[in-house]
Amino acid sequence: MRIGHGYDVHAFCEGEQIVLGGVSIPHSHAFAAHSDGDVLIHALCDALLGAMGEGDIGRHFPDTSSEFENIDSRILLRRVVELMQQRGYRLANADMTLIAQAPKLAPHISEMRERLAEDLQASQGLVNVKATTTEGLGFAGRREGIAAHAVVLLQDD
Ligand code: MG
Repeated sequence: MRIGHGYDVHAFCEGEQIVLGGVSIPHSHAFAAHSDGDVLIHALCDALLGAMGEGDIGRHFPDTSSEFENIDSRILLRRVVELMQQRGYRLANADMTLIAQAPKLAPHISEMRERLAEDLQASQGLVNVKATTTEGLGFAGRREGIAAHAVVLLQDD
């Protein structure tokens, strides 16, 4: 068994929608990011890479590379899953927390879970996504951006 943790933050900038867990969500802002800014997938990738002892997402997909400009983060996740399979691991379970004051995420959680489970090639029961506000405190509370935590457990395939 191998455990991994991931954390990511993206700030808001001008725009009309954000992508979280592979799901486009209408919002008063977009994410300022080199990729699509999907913090949930970035935290998940970091957790998977961490569990494998494979560094982090920045090492595998550098934001200085034009190859990854505006890239759909699901493509990155699928690549990390390929690496996981090459290393002989499969997902035991993943648990993730989004930290956002706005927009309301509850209506989108089940679709995120569905998409992430698909990319992880795991059943939805192994992939948990939840969301919390910070009661108005800190950068998330001031609606300046969104943070995500992910914890995964891998097991030998
Ligand atoms: Mg990121």
